[in-house]
Amino acid sequence: DIELTHADPEVYGIIGKEKDRQYKSLELIASENFTSRAVMEAVGSCLTNKYSEGLPGKRYYGGNEYIDELETLCQQRALEAFHLDGEKWGVNVQPLSGSPANFEVYTALLNPHDRIMGLDLPHGGHLSHGFMTPKRRVSGTSIYFESMPYRLDESTGLVDYNMLEKTATLFRPKLIIAGASAYPRDFDYPRMRKIADAVGAFLMMDMAHISGLVAASVVGNPFEYCDVVTTTTHKSLRGPRGGMIFYKKDTVLGVDMETAINNAVFPGLQGGPHNHTIGGLAVCLKHAQSPEFKTYQNNVVSNCRALASRLAELGYKLVSGGSDNHLVLVDLRPLGIDGARVEKILDLASITLNKNSVPGDKSALVPGGIRIGSPAMTTRGFKESDFVATADFIHEGVQITLEANKLIPKTKLQEFLKFVASPDFPLRDRI
Ligand code: PLP
Repeated sequence: DIELTHADPEVYGIIGKEKDRQYKSLELIASENFTSRAVMEAVGSCLTNKYSEGLPGKRYYGGNEYIDELETLCQQRALEAFHLDGEKWGVNVQPLSGSPANFEVYTALLNPHDRIMGLDLPHGGHLSHGFMTPKRRVSGTSIYFESMPYRLDESTGLVDYNMLEKTATLFRPKLIIAGASAYPRDFDYPRMRKIADAVGAFLMMDMAHISGLVAASVVGNPFEYCDVVTTTTHKSLRGPRGGMIFYKKDTVLGVDMETAINNAVFPGLQGGPHNHTIGGLAVCLKHAQSPEFKTYQNNVVSNCRALASRLAELGYKLVSGGSDNHLVLVDLRPLGIDGARVEKILDLASITLNKNSVPGDKSALVPGGIRIGSPAMTTRGFKESDFVATADFIHEGVQITLEANKLIPKTKLQEFLKFVASPDFPLRDRI
């Protein structure tokens, strides 16, 4: 067996460069985190070699004695980490990631062309919640199911539950999806439950972004109100890249949830589970029950608040006026610049965040905002004062963007990006 450094110096070198980038930059992408060495050891282990189609005790391959032990442990820890009674809730830990987990739920609970309602992507929702444009059914979810989004109230930046209720009453969806990729507030689960019940729909929460916060009980508990809860495992939960589906062990709207969900994962949409990921996830879920994890999640929220307050002090417009979770969404349009330009300038300064559409945006390609998250830098030990300093750095980046914009006024985005990345960009020494 040859070590990677000798077996493939090229790949080894690229990994080294990426590691360097991760450690030297301020990582503020709200969906990213630094998982632990212990999780990475499990992910990089011999577990990757094994095929184990099926569920513990019911496999289609031999040699699964230890994989059964591992997956059962992972399931138990998942239920414990989210404070769930195993008599009432079950979990499938095999989804390969968040988007497959969501599609598996849709195929489990719905028939092709059944109707769904999720938060619109430009308003903070995720592609897999049914995104489509007037010209194109972009997400597979919108190709195979009929999607009608709900949106934010643009004046408050909060979900417009009245509009959701009205539209649901007319559209009669079979599934309503809570959860988002860029929403700085909590969802009103009781209200959504009421709406779902009134129209005879399942209620699903995609807690991908906030699952760590849910486990630590620092935000509302979707399990009290939803029939099914999906998540990724690599965001605030800080595990390996993967997904999970929690389901009520019950018959809901005529569907036996346990059978339907498990069959949708395998053989419906997946083959062999990624056992190395399940190993890493089990490690992550053990840690998610520790007091340090709770402290970490509390810090994620307080750090994000510190960041939001400083940005507000500096005069920025924040969507919804602030944050109750791990992210803030800054509306840059009042300054006359967009998120793509600011993202690029900050990238050059090793501050990594992402451009993001904000309610009312005309273009998704040149969106008017940036999304900033606190989970990754909180893992790196940042405190509130560090996030205040981070807000000041971002502010400096915005100032440079404004000045660069004056140097080449009214240029197309691509030209601007080329201009600022070139060695003779006159403001380079400020970055
Ligand atoms: N759901 C939400 C709310 C997300 O934000 C994301 C990803 O960012 C996903 C699902 C999809 O996860 P994945 O990228 O693992 O498919």
